[in-house]
Amino acid sequence: MKHELSRFLRRNVVCWLVLAGVALVPSQSFAHLQWRVSVKIILDASGQRPTATNQYNFSTPARIREEFTAYNQLLDRAGWGYQIDLTEVVELSGVSQWFSVGARSGSNRTDLEVQAKLHPVQYAYRANAINVYVNNDSSGVAGPDLPLLGDVILAGARGYWTLLLHEIGHELGLCHTHGCLCNDNCFNVSDNIVDTITDSDQWISMNAVAQGNFSLPYASLSAAQRRLVDDLWQNIMSYHEHDQTNLVTRFTHDQWELMVDVSNVEKRNVTSGSTVFVDKAATGMSPCELINNLASLVDGLPGPVAWYQDELNSHLPGPEYYLRRTCRTFTIDPPTPPRPPLVPADWPWPPPLNLGKPPGYPGDWPWPLINPEPFTVCLGGAYKTVQAAIDCAANPGDRLQIKAGHYNERLTITKQLTLATDRGSVVIGAP
Ligand SMILES: [Zn+2]
Repeated sequence: MKHELSRFLRRNVVCWLVLAGVALVPSQSFAHLQWRVSVKIILDASGQRPTATNQYNFSTPARIREEFTAYNQLLDRAGWGYQIDLTEVVELSGVSQWFSVGARSGSNRTDLEVQAKLHPVQYAYRANAINVYVNNDSSGVAGPDLPLLGDVILAGARGYWTLLLHEIGHELGLCHTHGCLCNDNCFNVSDNIVDTITDSDQWISMNAVAQGNFSLPYASLSAAQRRLVDDLWQNIMSYHEHDQTNLVTRFTHDQWELMVDVSNVEKRNVTSGSTVFVDKAATGMSPCELINNLASLVDGLPGPVAWYQDELNSHLPGPEYYLRRTCRTFTIDPPTPPRPPLVPADWPWPPPLNLGKPPGYPGDWPWPLINPEPFTVCLGGAYKTVQAAIDCAANPGDRLQIKAGHYNERLTITKQLTLATDRGSVVIGAP
Protein backbone atom coordinates (compact mmCIF):
# COMPACT_ATOMS: atom_id res chain seq x y z
CA MET A 1 0.00 0.00 0.00
CA LYS A 2 1.23 3.46 -0.77
CA HIS A 3 1.33 6.13 1.86
CA GLU A 4 1.31 9.83 1.39
CA LEU A 5 4.37 11.26 2.98
CA SER A 6 4.92 14.94 3.34
CA ARG A 7 6.34 15.22 6.75
CA PHE A 8 7.35 18.01 9.03
CA LEU A 9 9.75 17.34 11.81
CA ARG A 10 9.99 19.94 14.49
CA ARG A 11 13.03 22.11 14.37
CA ASN A 12 15.75 21.21 16.86
CA VAL A 13 14.19 17.84 17.53
CA VAL A 14 16.52 15.08 16.50
CA CYS A 15 14.50 12.42 14.82
CA TRP A 16 15.67 9.28 13.19
CA LEU A 17 13.40 8.46 10.34
CA VAL A 18 14.09 5.17 8.69
CA LEU A 19 11.90 4.45 5.75
CA ALA A 20 11.77 0.94 4.43
CA GLY A 21 9.75 0.50 1.31
CA VAL A 22 7.67 3.58 1.96
CA ALA A 23 6.31 5.12 -1.18
CA LEU A 24 5.97 8.83 -1.71
CA VAL A 25 3.20 9.92 -4.01
CA PRO A 26 2.52 13.43 -5.29
CA SER A 27 0.73 15.28 -2.56
CA GLN A 28 -0.10 18.73 -1.44
CA SER A 29 2.60 20.08 0.77
CA PHE A 30 1.83 21.33 4.25
CA ALA A 31 3.79 24.54 4.08
CA HIS A 32 4.88 26.84 1.34
CA LEU A 33 7.95 28.67 0.27
CA GLN A 34 7.05 32.26 -0.39
CA TRP A 35 8.00 34.93 -2.87
CA ARG A 36 7.75 38.33 -1.20
CA VAL A 37 5.98 40.94 -3.33
CA SER A 38 5.48 44.59 -2.39
CA VAL A 39 2.92 46.53 -4.46
CA LYS A 40 2.85 50.28 -4.80
CA ILE A 41 -0.09 52.17 -6.35
CA ILE A 42 1.22 55.40 -7.85
CA LEU A 43 -1.10 58.34 -7.16
CA ASP A 44 -1.44 61.40 -9.39
CA ALA A 45 -0.43 64.94 -8.34
CA SER A 46 -3.83 65.39 -6.66
CA GLY A 47 -3.49 62.18 -4.70
CA GLN A 48 -5.98 60.33 -6.90
CA ARG A 49 -5.72 56.66 -7.73
CA PRO A 50 -5.51 55.32 -11.28
CA THR A 51 -8.85 55.55 -13.02
CA ALA A 52 -9.10 52.04 -14.36
CA THR A 53 -12.65 50.97 -15.02
CA ASN A 54 -12.38 47.49 -16.46
CA GLN A 55 -13.28 44.60 -14.21
CA TYR A 56 -9.69 43.36 -13.92
CA ASN A 57 -8.21 46.65 -12.76
CA PHE A 58 -5.55 47.01 -10.09
CA SER A 59 -6.43 50.50 -8.92
CA THR A 60 -7.28 49.85 -5.27
CA PRO A 61 -5.50 47.95 -2.48
CA ALA A 62 -8.60 45.78 -1.99
CA ARG A 63 -8.67 44.84 -5.67
CA ILE A 64 -4.96 43.99 -5.65
CA ARG A 65 -5.31 41.83 -2.54
CA GLU A 66 -8.19 40.01 -4.21
CA GLU A 67 -6.03 39.43 -7.26
CA PHE A 68 -3.18 37.96 -5.25
CA THR A 69 -5.55 35.71 -3.33
CA ALA A 70 -6.61 34.30 -6.68
CA TYR A 71 -2.95 33.93 -7.74
CA ASN A 72 -2.22 31.95 -4.60
CA GLN A 73 -5.14 29.64 -5.24
CA LEU A 74 -3.80 29.11 -8.74
CA LEU A 75 -0.26 28.47 -7.47
CA ASP A 76 -1.55 26.11 -4.80
CA ARG A 77 -3.26 23.96 -7.40
CA ALA A 78 0.03 23.66 -9.27
CA GLY A 79 1.52 21.72 -6.35
CA TRP A 80 5.05 23.13 -6.43
CA GLY A 81 4.78 24.50 -2.91
CA TYR A 82 5.19 28.19 -3.66
CA GLN A 83 2.94 31.08 -2.66
CA ILE A 84 3.17 34.83 -2.98
CA ASP A 85 3.57 36.74 0.25
CA LEU A 86 1.96 40.08 -0.55
CA THR A 87 3.82 41.99 2.12
CA GLU A 88 2.05 45.33 1.55
CA VAL A 89 0.03 47.45 -0.83
CA VAL A 90 1.20 51.04 -0.50
CA GLU A 91 -0.48 54.09 -2.04
CA LEU A 92 2.45 56.19 -3.13
CA SER A 93 2.37 60.00 -3.21
CA GLY A 94 5.11 62.31 -4.45
CA VAL A 95 6.12 60.33 -7.53
CA SER A 96 3.26 61.36 -9.82
CA GLN A 97 5.68 61.81 -12.71
CA TRP A 98 5.23 58.07 -13.19
CA PHE A 99 1.42 58.18 -13.08
CA SER A 100 0.83 58.37 -16.82
CA VAL A 101 4.01 57.03 -18.39
CA GLY A 102 3.74 54.01 -20.66
CA ALA A 103 3.96 50.91 -18.50
CA ARG A 104 5.01 48.80 -21.46
CA SER A 105 8.23 50.71 -22.01
CA GLY A 106 11.39 48.96 -20.96
CA SER A 107 13.24 52.25 -20.62
CA ASN A 108 10.51 53.65 -18.33
CA ARG A 109 10.82 50.58 -16.17
CA THR A 110 14.59 50.84 -16.03
CA ASP A 111 14.41 54.55 -15.15
CA LEU A 112 11.89 53.78 -12.42
CA GLU A 113 14.12 51.07 -10.97
CA VAL A 114 17.09 53.45 -10.89
CA GLN A 115 15.06 56.12 -9.08
CA ALA A 116 13.50 53.62 -6.67
CA LYS A 117 16.93 52.37 -5.66
CA LEU A 118 18.31 55.89 -5.34
CA HIS A 119 15.36 56.99 -3.15
CA PRO A 120 14.17 53.82 -1.42
CA VAL A 121 12.13 55.59 1.26
CA GLN A 122 10.26 57.83 -1.17
CA TYR A 123 9.55 54.90 -3.48
CA ALA A 124 8.88 52.35 -0.69
CA TYR A 125 11.46 50.19 -2.43
CA ARG A 126 12.18 46.89 -0.67
CA ALA A 127 15.46 45.14 -1.36
CA ASN A 128 14.06 41.81 -0.17
CA ALA A 129 10.95 41.77 -2.34
CA ILE A 130 9.77 41.99 -5.93
CA ASN A 131 8.65 45.61 -6.20
CA VAL A 132 5.52 46.18 -8.30
CA TYR A 133 4.56 49.73 -9.25
CA VAL A 134 1.05 50.21 -10.65
CA ASN A 135 0.23 53.33 -12.65
CA ASN A 136 -2.60 54.60 -14.83
CA ASP A 137 -1.56 52.74 -17.98
CA SER A 138 -2.64 49.39 -19.31
CA SER A 139 -0.45 46.35 -19.81
CA GLY A 140 2.88 46.06 -18.10
CA VAL A 141 6.52 45.35 -18.50
CA ALA A 142 8.96 43.46 -16.41
CA GLY A 143 12.19 44.53 -18.06
CA PRO A 144 13.94 45.89 -21.13
CA ASP A 145 15.05 42.39 -21.88
CA LEU A 146 12.91 39.49 -20.83
CA PRO A 147 13.37 37.58 -18.66
CA LEU A 148 14.04 40.34 -16.19
CA LEU A 149 17.30 40.88 -14.40
CA GLY A 150 16.12 43.79 -12.26
CA ASP A 151 13.63 43.64 -9.43
CA VAL A 152 11.09 46.31 -10.32
CA ILE A 153 7.88 45.67 -12.25
CA LEU A 154 5.93 48.54 -13.79
CA ALA A 155 2.34 47.66 -14.62
CA GLY A 156 -0.75 49.58 -15.62
CA ALA A 157 -3.87 49.49 -13.49
CA ARG A 158 -5.92 48.71 -16.57
CA GLY A 159 -4.18 45.40 -17.05
CA TYR A 160 -5.82 42.04 -17.48
CA TRP A 161 -6.40 39.06 -15.21
CA THR A 162 -3.04 37.46 -14.33
CA LEU A 163 -1.02 40.44 -15.64
CA LEU A 164 0.88 40.82 -12.38
CA LEU A 165 1.48 37.08 -12.14
CA HIS A 166 2.73 37.17 -15.74
CA GLU A 167 5.19 39.91 -14.82
CA ILE A 168 6.29 37.99 -11.72
CA GLY A 169 6.89 35.02 -14.06
CA HIS A 170 9.31 37.23 -16.00
CA GLU A 171 10.98 38.17 -12.73
CA LEU A 172 11.50 34.49 -12.03
CA GLY A 173 13.21 33.87 -15.35
CA LEU A 174 10.42 33.03 -17.76
CA CYS A 175 10.15 34.31 -21.31
CA HIS A 176 6.93 34.60 -23.27
CA THR A 177 5.73 31.31 -24.72
CA HIS A 178 6.13 33.03 -28.09
CA GLY A 179 9.81 33.60 -27.47
CA CYS A 180 12.57 35.10 -25.40
CA LEU A 181 13.38 38.76 -26.01
CA CYS A 182 10.25 39.03 -28.13
CA ASN A 183 6.96 40.76 -27.37
CA ASP A 184 5.03 41.23 -30.60
CA ASN A 185 4.92 39.61 -34.04
CA CYS A 186 7.00 36.68 -32.86
CA PHE A 187 7.27 33.57 -34.99
CA ASN A 188 9.54 30.58 -34.31
CA VAL A 189 11.32 32.26 -31.43
CA SER A 190 12.28 29.79 -28.71
CA ASP A 191 11.23 30.31 -25.10
CA ASN A 192 14.03 27.95 -23.96
CA ILE A 193 11.46 25.69 -22.31
CA VAL A 194 11.45 22.08 -23.47
CA ASP A 195 7.85 21.14 -22.72
CA THR A 196 6.14 24.07 -24.45
CA ILE A 197 5.43 23.82 -28.16
CA THR A 198 5.97 26.67 -30.61
CA ASP A 199 3.82 29.72 -30.08
CA SER A 200 3.14 33.03 -31.79
CA ASP A 201 1.37 36.02 -30.33
CA GLN A 202 -0.25 36.31 -33.77
CA TRP A 203 -2.05 32.98 -33.48
CA ILE A 204 -5.51 34.01 -32.38
CA SER A 205 -7.18 30.63 -32.09
CA MET A 206 -6.40 27.20 -30.69
CA ASN A 207 -6.72 25.93 -34.24
CA ALA A 208 -3.93 28.27 -35.29
CA VAL A 209 -1.69 26.86 -32.55
CA ALA A 210 -2.63 23.31 -33.57
CA GLN A 211 -2.00 24.01 -37.26
CA GLY A 212 1.25 25.80 -36.54
CA ASN A 213 2.64 22.88 -34.59
CA PHE A 214 0.94 19.77 -35.95
CA SER A 215 -0.54 20.85 -39.30
CA LEU A 216 -3.93 19.64 -38.06
CA PRO A 217 -7.00 21.34 -36.63
CA TYR A 218 -7.39 21.07 -32.87
CA ALA A 219 -10.26 18.61 -33.19
CA SER A 220 -8.02 16.14 -35.03
CA LEU A 221 -5.24 16.12 -32.45
CA SER A 222 -4.46 13.28 -30.07
CA ALA A 223 -5.15 13.81 -26.38
CA ALA A 224 -1.45 14.40 -25.74
CA GLN A 225 -1.24 16.96 -28.53
CA ARG A 226 -4.33 18.75 -27.26
CA ARG A 227 -2.76 18.95 -23.85
CA LEU A 228 0.25 20.68 -25.38
CA VAL A 229 -1.98 23.18 -27.16
CA ASP A 230 -3.97 23.77 -23.96
CA ASP A 231 -0.73 24.35 -22.05
CA LEU A 232 0.05 27.20 -24.44
CA TRP A 233 -3.43 28.55 -24.79
CA GLN A 234 -3.94 28.80 -21.06
CA ASN A 235 -0.35 29.70 -20.25
CA ILE A 236 0.31 32.66 -18.00
CA MET A 237 3.33 33.57 -20.12
CA SER A 238 1.37 33.60 -23.39
CA TYR A 239 -0.64 36.44 -24.91
CA HIS A 240 -3.76 34.30 -25.39
CA GLU A 241 -7.14 34.66 -23.69
CA HIS A 242 -6.13 37.39 -21.29
CA ASP A 243 -9.66 38.67 -21.02
CA GLN A 244 -10.93 35.29 -19.88
CA THR A 245 -10.89 35.10 -16.10
CA ASN A 246 -10.05 31.64 -14.81
CA LEU A 247 -8.80 30.38 -18.16
CA VAL A 248 -5.20 31.63 -18.08
CA THR A 249 -4.04 29.38 -15.29
CA ARG A 250 -1.00 27.38 -16.30
CA PHE A 251 2.72 27.18 -15.98
CA THR A 252 4.16 23.97 -17.43
CA HIS A 253 6.39 21.60 -15.48
CA ASP A 254 9.55 22.92 -17.11
CA GLN A 255 8.50 26.53 -16.59
CA TRP A 256 8.11 25.68 -12.91
CA GLU A 257 11.54 24.09 -12.80
CA LEU A 258 13.08 27.24 -14.20
CA MET A 259 11.20 29.50 -11.78
CA VAL A 260 12.34 27.36 -8.88
CA ASP A 261 15.91 27.36 -10.14
CA VAL A 262 15.90 31.16 -10.40
CA SER A 263 14.24 31.43 -6.98
CA ASN A 264 17.06 29.37 -5.53
CA VAL A 265 19.86 31.57 -6.84
CA GLU A 266 19.21 34.89 -8.62
CA LYS A 267 16.02 35.65 -6.67
CA ARG A 268 16.96 34.08 -3.38
CA ASN A 269 16.65 37.56 -1.83
CA VAL A 270 12.89 37.57 -2.42
CA THR A 271 12.23 33.92 -1.55
CA SER A 272 11.72 32.48 1.94
CA GLY A 273 13.62 29.25 1.28
CA SER A 274 14.96 26.87 -1.32
CA THR A 275 13.89 23.80 -3.22
CA VAL A 276 16.65 21.20 -3.41
CA PHE A 277 16.45 18.97 -6.48
CA VAL A 278 17.03 15.23 -6.15
CA ASP A 279 17.47 12.99 -9.18
CA LYS A 280 19.11 9.59 -8.94
CA ALA A 281 20.14 9.90 -12.60
CA ALA A 282 21.96 13.20 -12.08
CA THR A 283 25.50 13.22 -13.42
CA GLY A 284 27.16 16.16 -11.72
CA MET A 285 29.28 16.03 -8.62
CA SER A 286 27.75 17.73 -5.62
CA PRO A 287 29.82 20.30 -3.70
CA CYS A 288 29.98 17.92 -0.72
CA GLU A 289 31.20 15.09 -2.93
CA LEU A 290 33.90 17.37 -4.22
CA ILE A 291 35.00 18.41 -0.74
CA ASN A 292 34.90 14.87 0.64
CA ASN A 293 36.66 13.27 -2.30
CA LEU A 294 39.22 15.89 -3.16
CA ALA A 295 42.19 13.68 -2.24
CA SER A 296 41.23 10.95 -4.67
CA LEU A 297 40.33 13.49 -7.35
CA VAL A 298 43.78 15.11 -7.30
CA ASP A 299 45.62 11.80 -7.02
CA GLY A 300 48.06 11.83 -9.92
CA LEU A 301 48.23 15.61 -10.15
CA PRO A 302 51.44 17.37 -9.11
CA GLY A 303 52.00 18.29 -5.46
CA PRO A 304 50.27 17.51 -2.18
CA VAL A 305 46.50 17.55 -1.66
CA ALA A 306 46.96 20.68 0.46
CA TRP A 307 47.69 22.77 -2.62
CA TYR A 308 44.26 21.92 -4.02
CA GLN A 309 42.56 21.99 -0.63
CA ASP A 310 43.81 25.51 0.03
CA GLU A 311 42.61 26.69 -3.35
CA LEU A 312 39.19 25.10 -2.83
CA ASN A 313 38.92 26.68 0.64
CA SER A 314 39.69 30.11 -0.74
CA HIS A 315 37.19 29.78 -3.61
CA LEU A 316 34.35 27.72 -2.18
CA PRO A 317 31.50 26.91 -4.54
CA GLY A 318 28.59 29.34 -4.11
CA PRO A 319 24.84 28.67 -3.89
CA GLU A 320 24.60 28.33 -7.66
CA TYR A 321 26.43 25.03 -7.28
CA TYR A 322 24.44 23.80 -4.28
CA LEU A 323 20.97 24.62 -5.55
CA ARG A 324 20.87 24.44 -9.34
CA ARG A 325 19.01 21.75 -11.21
CA THR A 326 21.95 21.15 -13.53
CA CYS A 327 25.66 21.03 -12.88
CA ARG A 328 28.06 23.57 -14.31
CA THR A 329 31.77 23.75 -14.91
CA PHE A 330 33.91 24.41 -11.87
CA THR A 331 37.69 24.67 -12.01
CA ILE A 332 40.23 24.31 -9.24
CA ASP A 333 43.40 25.99 -10.47
CA PRO A 334 45.87 26.63 -7.65
CA PRO A 335 48.56 29.29 -8.19
CA THR A 336 52.27 28.63 -7.94
CA PRO A 337 52.66 27.62 -4.30
CA PRO A 338 53.87 30.49 -2.10
CA ARG A 339 57.21 30.35 -0.29
CA PRO A 340 56.95 27.83 2.56
CA PRO A 341 57.58 29.36 6.00
CA LEU A 342 60.88 27.56 6.59
CA VAL A 343 62.50 28.61 3.31
CA PRO A 344 64.78 31.62 3.96
CA ALA A 345 63.21 34.93 3.01
CA ASP A 346 66.17 35.88 0.78
CA TRP A 347 66.02 32.65 -1.20
CA PRO A 348 64.71 33.38 -4.72
CA TRP A 349 61.13 32.18 -5.18
CA PRO A 350 60.08 30.24 -7.18
CA PRO A 351 63.38 28.47 -6.46
CA PRO A 352 65.80 28.37 -9.43
CA LEU A 353 67.27 24.94 -10.18
CA ASN A 354 70.90 26.11 -10.20
CA LEU A 355 70.84 26.87 -6.47
CA GLY A 356 69.57 23.40 -5.59
CA LYS A 357 66.78 22.55 -3.20
CA PRO A 358 66.28 25.39 -0.69
CA PRO A 359 66.67 24.73 3.01
CA GLY A 360 63.31 24.18 4.68
CA TYR A 361 61.74 22.89 1.47
CA PRO A 362 58.69 20.73 2.38
CA GLY A 363 59.34 17.00 2.13
CA ASP A 364 56.03 16.26 0.42
CA TRP A 365 56.55 18.79 -2.37
CA PRO A 366 57.95 17.69 -5.73
CA TRP A 367 61.51 18.76 -6.44
CA PRO A 368 62.16 20.45 -8.79
CA LEU A 369 59.03 22.45 -8.02
CA ILE A 370 56.22 21.61 -10.42
CA ASN A 371 53.22 23.88 -10.58
CA PRO A 372 49.84 22.37 -9.68
CA GLU A 373 47.58 21.54 -12.59
CA PRO A 374 44.04 22.85 -12.96
CA PHE A 375 41.26 20.32 -12.95
CA THR A 376 37.61 20.72 -13.85
CA VAL A 377 34.43 19.03 -12.69
CA CYS A 378 30.76 19.48 -13.56
CA LEU A 379 29.73 20.69 -10.13
CA GLY A 380 26.30 20.85 -8.56
CA GLY A 381 22.96 20.01 -10.12
CA ALA A 382 20.41 17.68 -8.60
CA TYR A 383 21.58 15.41 -5.79
CA LYS A 384 21.78 11.70 -6.50
CA THR A 385 20.45 10.68 -3.09
CA VAL A 386 17.85 12.18 -0.80
CA GLN A 387 20.27 12.03 2.12
CA ALA A 388 22.95 13.95 0.23
CA ALA A 389 20.42 16.69 -0.56
CA ILE A 390 19.45 16.89 3.11
CA ASP A 391 23.01 16.87 4.42
CA CYS A 392 24.69 19.04 1.82
CA ALA A 393 22.13 21.64 0.82
CA ALA A 394 18.78 21.69 2.62
CA ASN A 395 18.14 24.18 5.41
CA PRO A 396 15.22 24.02 7.84
CA GLY A 397 12.01 24.93 6.02
CA ASP A 398 13.32 23.93 2.61
CA ARG A 399 11.64 21.66 0.14
CA LEU A 400 13.04 18.59 -1.61
CA GLN A 401 11.79 17.98 -5.15
CA ILE A 402 12.54 14.29 -5.74
CA LYS A 403 12.41 12.84 -9.26
CA ALA A 404 10.31 9.71 -9.54
CA GLY A 405 12.13 6.47 -8.82
CA HIS A 406 13.45 4.12 -6.19
CA TYR A 407 16.04 5.48 -3.78
CA ASN A 408 17.62 2.61 -1.89
CA GLU A 409 18.76 4.46 1.19
CA ARG A 410 18.05 4.93 4.87
CA LEU A 411 17.11 8.49 5.75
CA THR A 412 18.09 10.50 8.74
CA ILE A 413 16.21 13.79 8.90
CA THR A 414 17.06 16.22 11.67
CA LYS A 415 15.46 19.36 10.30
CA GLN A 416 12.04 20.52 9.23
CA LEU A 417 11.65 19.74 5.54
CA THR A 418 8.98 19.11 2.96
CA LEU A 419 9.53 16.11 0.70
CA ALA A 420 7.72 16.26 -2.62
CA THR A 421 7.80 14.05 -5.68
CA ASP A 422 8.38 15.03 -9.27
CA ARG A 423 6.61 13.27 -12.16
CA GLY A 424 5.59 10.08 -10.44
CA SER A 425 6.11 8.01 -7.33
CA VAL A 426 9.19 7.94 -5.19
CA VAL A 427 10.10 4.92 -3.09
CA ILE A 428 12.74 5.29 -0.39
CA GLY A 429 14.21 2.25 1.31
CA ALA A 430 15.25 -1.29 0.51
CA PRO A 431 13.56 -2.90 -2.50
ZN1 LIG B 1 5.35 39.72 -20.77
